[in-house]
Amino acid sequence: MSHDYDRKRADMLKHDIVGRGIRDQRVIAACAEIPRHDFVDADARHLAYEDAPLRIRHNQTISQPFIVAYMTEALALTGQERVLEIGTGSGYQTAILARCVNTVYTIERIDALLEDAKRILTTLGIHNIHYRVGDGKMGWESAAPFDAVMVTASADDIPDALLEQLKEGGRLVMPVGDDFAQELVRITRTEGEYVQEHLGGVRFVRLI
Ligand code: SAH
Repeated sequence: MSHDYDRKRADMLKHDIVGRGIRDQRVIAACAEIPRHDFVDADARHLAYEDAPLRIRHNQTISQPFIVAYMTEALALTGQERVLEIGTGSGYQTAILARCVNTVYTIERIDALLEDAKRILTTLGIHNIHYRVGDGKMGWESAAPFDAVMVTASADDIPDALLEQLKEGGRLVMPVGDDFAQELVRITRTEGEYVQEHLGGVRFVRLI
């Protein structure tokens, strides 16, 4: 039986991505293409195109589609970038990024999650990704500096290493706040300064 995922994804795009104000054509094209149902557990596939976060294994969550699109758009990508992502999780955000930039470097602390994400992304034919198991707070020194950094787990403060590994002119997006509520923050590194903007309230699992 067909689950009509293509139609559901088209509806998601219309109502929850474009309908909620996403305008970046790269991001819209990536959301139109990437099969989110491949990144969620079998028993949750029928919910894959609802605009909601879903539980994934190891008590983590796959972010809601609008937030994935919104955070990606906030990085103001042109297609040439090398991007660092912290918190691979399901790999869905990784896939969206990989479609919008040149190369993604993604770090996940839970080995089993990273392995699953890698398998799904490889099966989809997405190969412009480097994978690492480890503590994302340290960044990825040997591949730095990055044009953009995306952190998909929350903390009280932005880790210093991630700010240091941001290129001049680069953008970083991360949920900053306590366990219960966070503010999405965008940092732009300009002339040695880190300029901060607030992009709205969110709720993410914690950066460990
Ligand atoms: N972008 C993912 C979100 C996953 S939830 C998705 O949409 O599927 C956040 C992820 O960050 C979890 O998988 C968690 O294991 C991971 N994480 C938490 N702390 C981390 C750290 N210090 N380094 C790397 N990954 C971390």
